[in-house]
This record gives sequence, C-alpha cells and structure tokens, in this order.
Amino acid sequence: MFNKILIANRGEIAIRVMRACRELGISTVAVYSEADRNALFAKYADEAVYVGPSPSSKSYIKIDNIINAAFETGSEAIHPGYGFLAENPSFARECEANGIVFIGPTSTSIDGMGSKITARQTMKAAGVPIVPGVESGISRAREMLEIADEIGYPVILKPAAGGGGIGMKIVEQRGDLESAFTSAQSIAKSTFGDDTVYVEKYLPEPRHIEFQIMADNHGRTVYVAERECSIQRRHQKLIEEAPSPIMTEDLRQRMGDIAVKAAKAIDYRSAGTVEFMYSRGDFYFLEMNTRLQVEHPITEMITGIDLAKEQILVAAGEDLGFSQDEISIRGWAIECRINAEDPLKDFAPSPGRLKRYRSAGGPGIRVDSGVYTGYVIPPYYDSLISKLVAHGRNRKEAIVRMERALYEYIITGVATNIAFHKAVLRNPRFQSGDINTHFIKEENILADVKRIAKEEEEKGLTLASALSADSRKVAAISAAVGMYLAKENIPQEKMAQE
Ligand code: ADP
Repeated sequence: MFNKILIANRGEIAIRVMRACRELGISTVAVYSEADRNALFAKYADEAVYVGPSPSSKSYIKIDNIINAAFETGSEAIHPGYGFLAENPSFARECEANGIVFIGPTSTSIDGMGSKITARQTMKAAGVPIVPGVESGISRAREMLEIADEIGYPVILKPAAGGGGIGMKIVEQRGDLESAFTSAQSIAKSTFGDDTVYVEKYLPEPRHIEFQIMADNHGRTVYVAERECSIQRRHQKLIEEAPSPIMTEDLRQRMGDIAVKAAKAIDYRSAGTVEFMYSRGDFYFLEMNTRLQVEHPITEMITGIDLAKEQILVAAGEDLGFSQDEISIRGWAIECRINAEDPLKDFAPSPGRLKRYRSAGGPGIRVDSGVYTGYVIPPYYDSLISKLVAHGRNRKEAIVRMERALYEYIITGVATNIAFHKAVLRNPRFQSGDINTHFIKEENILADVKRIAKEEEEKGLTLASALSADSRKVAAISAAVGMYLAKENIPQEKMAQE
C-alpha cells in the first residue's frame, strides 16, 4: 500500500480523494496554483506544493511541475481526479516512466479511448453496438454530404478529439450541413488542436445512461450499476440519478455485460465509465471516460462501494474487494451540480466571495464541496461549488429529500443555479421519470426558474431568507434602540452595562 499520494487536482474532487486517503491512512499532497493558495483542498492535505500561476495551463496541467512536486515530496502515486490531466495519456506515460503509480488505467487504455473515432473502431471490432455513423474522420464537405444522406437526417457532427460537448453540431437538414461542418472543424481546431470531425445519426428521444466499471490488475472487471444523466443543458450534465428510471434487471444485465466487454477490449483497470445513448428501446456505445466521473457519488450511495478508495487499492495491486454477484442496489440517489452561475443570465459564471455558506445536511444527504464562508471562487476554473446528493429508499423519497436540502442550503455572495434544480425537481414529467436529453428545452424549465426565483425572493421561502429576515429585524431593533438612547442622552456604554 502507498504511504503518500499526490492529488493532481483542485476543489471538491481533490478533497474527495483526500478523504479516501485519510480513511486508508495514506498521507496526502496537494498541488495548488496562485488562485488556490487559500482553497480548502490545499489546507486539507498533509502537505501542499505551489505549482504555478492561476491559469491551469501554467499549473494544473503542467506535467513537469506536477511530476517534480511528486518527487520533491516523495509521493509514490498520483491521483488525477477528473479533468486537467486525468485523461492525458502523455501524463500517465510520464508517471509510468518515472516510477510513479498513476491511479487510473494504463496510458495505452487512455489512448484507446482518447479519440472518439478510435474508440468507435475498437468497440465495433469488439462487438459493442455503436451509434450508427462513420468510424473515420471526414475532411471534405462533399464527402460529409454523401455520408449524411446515407445516414439520414438529423445527424450530429463531432470533433474526434472532443469533450465537454464542445464543437458538436446537430444538423436537421441537408441545406445546413456545409456551414455546420466548417464551423465544427474550426472549433475542433481551435479548442482541441485537431480539426478531425466525424458524423453520427442524431438519435430520437435520447437518454444518456452510463455504466460504472471497476477493474483490477488480476482480470476481474465488474459493472457497478448505472447512472442516468439525461438532464443536460448544452450537452452538459446538471442532474444525475442512479439507478435509471427505465432500468429493468434484464436490461441492466445486458448493458452491464456490454460495458464490461468494452472495458476488457482495452485491457481496462481502475474506475471507468462506459456511456451509452438509449433511444426507443435500443442502446449504443457513446464513449468511455477513463477516470472517476463527477457524478460517481450517486453510485457510491446506492451500492455502498467507495469508488475512490477502490481505485487506490486496485492501483496498489490489490484485488477488487467484491464480485459482480456481491454488488446490490439499495434505494435511489440524485445529484444536483450546484454551480456559481446565474440561470437567469444564460447561466453566466458568477465567481466571487461566498458571504455566507451553510451546507445542507440531515438524513440521506451528502455534500461534496471544496468551499467555506469567505472563500473566493476564482474565475479561472469550472464554476462547481458543490455536488449535492440525496439518497432515499426510492426515487420519490430521493426527490423530496433533495428539495428539502435545496431549501436549507445557504449560499450567498454569488449567484447559484439552485432555483434551476428546484424547477426540475418540481416538474411533473421529471417526477414521472419520463426524461430525455431535450427535457430542459421541451419543458421550458427556464420559465419556471424565473418564476421560482421571483417567488422565493418575494415570499422568503428559503432558510436563508428566514435567517436574513431575523438579522434584518435585529438591525432594525438596534437602530431604534440607538435612536432612543440618543434622544434621552444616555451613553450607549451605560445601556450596555445595564
Ligand atoms: P462529449 O465527449 O463532448 O461530452 P458525447 O459524445 O459524450 O460528447 O455527447 C454528449 C451528449 O451529447 C450526450 O450525453 C447527448 O446528450 C448528446 N449526444 C451525443 N451524441 C448523440 C447522438 N448521436 N444522438 C443524440 N444525442 C447525442
């Protein structure tokens, strides 16, 4: 087992990994940028090393700086979290070359899933169903037109090197294809440094259902249930739940077996996620994320498996502590990503100082965050404040617990998307489980967000407003007392003594 692990990440995920380390009795090393000097994760760790200026290109993704920090501190392993260097095969290779354990899959496995095109080729060869489309990049508009005609509209154009929903273009009709293609290519080039674009069928009523995989170095690969992540905005997940409302035992086994097959096809080890698109009864491989996902806590809540801990144990060469048959699902879990962004201003990021921060709690609630009262959310990184997770005996209980937690969650000083989450949770169609990735648009959730935000402000429907109403009262009373004392010419100190 390791004595010391360096966590090459920041914010809530750095703390999540450090929590696992603490429980395992492993010392932790944080790396931090200029903007993160006072961040909670840098204080939480046993040691912290400064790795450069605030922009991540100068600190968190500077491979040499991270490797040096590991050497300096005598760290035997590096956990990359998600984002930054987590899916960078060069970084994994650099760790391997320097005798540092990369807590994740091998660089070869990461490479195998790095390009969406290579992944599609590998999966097809392994007998995994992929979304209908091509398995090679397309460089000419004419070729793209021919292929799209064959696939049939609508289609979706994707950068091969893409991620985060960036550069993807949905094309409804032939006349729009050429301009969408040129634009996808230029975004792909400027964002990912590679203008390779390919095309897939744009599936109707798509649901995003993904399977958690765990694999050790000794040939055991299992699926740890599924998560449904269909509540998205601009292809970005905002609310996730586990299990999926449409899952049956039979479907879970079929999709799970395919997910294991996908992982085995690239000799996978560690935690990973096989993402599928589910459309009208059929499912297709979308991509594999070779890391721990943002939404992993909901899987932990329903299975009782600590995925971060298992990742570390497996990286240290231990056997996976459980078999497929030993994994069972208990209840339902939902995660809301609480972001510092303003849903009323097109979700514009809202960095700044947290004037007040009081976490939600109580039965069935888990909050993964890296903030505290007075903390300044820097503008350089993503806007995630925390991941609020509610677990209940069933979906209904998980939903009402989440609503209750949103009521009591206090975050002031920055705008948040809490009203957005309330709007989704209160929506009857969401409550019935009839969701797909178009839900937010189809249900015009933004109109509800506006209404809810206004109502709450006027009527003071949150714990935060109840508390500030009290403090307003206190302020009013002390002002009145002050005026009385002044009028009667009584010195304030005298009053205080009495
Ligand atoms: P990224 O890697 O950029 O996140 P993905 O390929 O994982 O991109 O797709 C992200 C989201 O885009 C999916 O969850 C889904 O909402 C939508 N999407 C992607 N491909 C398709 C498709 N073929 N049909 C319908 N929706 C799709």
